[in-house]
Amino acid sequence: MSKTIKRVLISRAEIDQMCRRLGEQITHDYAGKEIILIGVLKGAFIFMSDLARYIGVPCRIDFMSVSSYGSGTRTSGVVRITKDLDTDITGKHIIVVEDIVDTGLTLKHLRELLSTRNPASIALCTAFDKPDRRKVEIMVEYTGLQIPDEFIVGYGLDFDGKYRNLPDVSVLGDDN
Ligand code: 5GP
Repeated sequence: MSKTIKRVLISRAEIDQMCRRLGEQITHDYAGKEIILIGVLKGAFIFMSDLARYIGVPCRIDFMSVSSYGSGTRTSGVVRITKDLDTDITGKHIIVVEDIVDTGLTLKHLRELLSTRNPASIALCTAFDKPDRRKVEIMVEYTGLQIPDEFIVGYGLDFDGKYRNLPDVSVLGDDN
């Protein structure tokens, strides 16, 4: 069965408002400090670039890429780094930028992993959050929008590598 776009869930205008709000909040919270934004590839690449333009404190950017070990569709929560940071984060204020938090396993593991490198502080920022799907308790300091338990694509999020370029966030469903 193939998948198609069912409907737009979050418009470009709502996304822009969300980025502005998060950027202003981060600017306020980190006043007088320098930060490193760490985008989790590939999903966060568009959100990261929009968010960065609303942040008014000195800011470096870096990216990392991870894949989770698991069998089939089940994630184990053990994350393998497939592209590591170029930056030494020791003593730095870092904000990890994700596209979406689902079970929470990826970000929980990433926080633990990056903490071992002794940054001055670590915060998590996600564009979207599906709280109904959470499997582990996790503190996310900056959340854009909470969404229902539906599979979304667009604005960086993919299905089978496609749809990342869609400017809105849409719900994907079975084509029947
Ligand atoms: P978690 O470890 O929180 O379960 O997984 C987060 C990752 O699962 C996200 O970075 C994303 O790659 C993927 N994911 C979770 N929900 C969705 C969704 O609704 N749409 C898409 N395209 N990816 C999702």
